[in-house]
Amino acid sequence: MAFSTDSLIHPDEARARIFHHVARLPSERVALRAAAWRVLADDLMAEENHPPFPAATMDGYAVIADDPSPWREIVGRQTAGSVEEIDLDLGTAAWITTGAPVPRGANAVVPVEVTSLADEHVVIHQERIDPGANIRPIGIDLMRGSLVLRSGSMIGPAEIGLLAGLGIDPVTVVQRPRVSVLSTGDELVEPTETPGPGQIRDSNRFSLLAALQESGADVIWDGHGPDDAMALRRALLERIAESDVVITSGGVSMGDLDLIKPLLAEIAEVHFRRVLMKPGKPFNFATVADTLIFSLPGNPVSALVGFEVFLRPALRQMQGFREIDRPRVHVLVDHEVRPSDRIEFQRAIVRADGVGALTATTTGAQASSRLASLVGSNALIVVPAGTEPLPSGSRLDALLVGPLRGADHPRSPEVPRNAQ
Ligand code: AMP
Ligand code: MG
Repeated sequence: MAFSTDSLIHPDEARARIFHHVARLPSERVALRAAAWRVLADDLMAEENHPPFPAATMDGYAVIADDPSPWREIVGRQTAGSVEEIDLDLGTAAWITTGAPVPRGANAVVPVEVTSLADEHVVIHQERIDPGANIRPIGIDLMRGSLVLRSGSMIGPAEIGLLAGLGIDPVTVVQRPRVSVLSTGDELVEPTETPGPGQIRDSNRFSLLAALQESGADVIWDGHGPDDAMALRRALLERIAESDVVITSGGVSMGDLDLIKPLLAEIAEVHFRRVLMKPGKPFNFATVADTLIFSLPGNPVSALVGFEVFLRPALRQMQGFREIDRPRVHVLVDHEVRPSDRIEFQRAIVRADGVGALTATTTGAQASSRLASLVGSNALIVVPAGTEPLPSGSRLDALLVGPLRGADHPRSPEVPRNAQ
């Protein structure tokens, strides 16, 4: 391709180059109970009617709707789970429970609340009984041959209930991407360790593991590598061989110990290295055969924002999700916003003000090392590159990355802002 991989490209171009290499993974059959939160691989048609028979929706009496009899003889009892030999005629009724099949001849169910008993008879204290009243017709939820769920639907609690109701077990779902996560840097120690002089704890790996879990990825390996070319090369080649996606953090800037960048140039096909965005300008995307390699910068916010903007949609595309992106909404910022020379994804709290507008407040200092700027935020507001401050009340796009907050939600996150 006729471009330099070192040139700064627009985030849209970066996304296009990534998606050029992203394909839906093959499907697999999994037990129904393991299908929750997975993505349905094929359109699913109902092979049965659901419900399979007309059923009472109330406890009461099955009757003939336009029967003029003032009271009716009780000729049977029909409970849920069986079919009794009952034939209703004028002047008769059958006691029935919710979910029970409606006996032959009956065309309405009268709720027990509007009846009273006299000897072996039921008296109905209701002027009019409509035909079909309190009967759930056959196939009202789903008719045989109708579309139940579309390919690409996520299987949540309601969807899995439908599948169970239709007897679909196992379920054909799209495979989850097998992902390896490698954080790099001589300064990093495990969270359980006490950092020595000049060391810090590895936080990115754990942030990325959580983000990967939310994206539906299957993390098959995670670990840490030193700033050592040979060790990184070995680790990376091993991971590439067994993963659909390899994510690294750190080592993609311009320093001599930023070893991931030259390593990728050597072992992979690099598609871009720098994106005109803030945070997260150094961001390498490369491939080796079908394996995608995303190399994120080491700064914790840069790593997570890069994940959110590029990796999450790619991972969802691989899983066949019909909706791969976060909702993009318009927000009104409630304070002045200073743009930078690049498109900036500022962390913010977005609240619904109750009259239809969404209001955004950024979470304090936006330094790319300040993980606290992401804590409690539910949105990334997209601030176009520019030189002039945007006044309070300006309308901007935002990616909703967490649940929308109500008007009464605090404007700022509940963490100390003195970390600025
Ligand atoms: P790098 O991209 O390797 O130059 O790292 C940029 C900054 O992020 C440096 O201050 C690193 O110490 C820090 N950093 C790199 N990796 C991690 C990590 N896994 N967890 C927390 N901070 C990191
Ligand atoms: Mg480093």
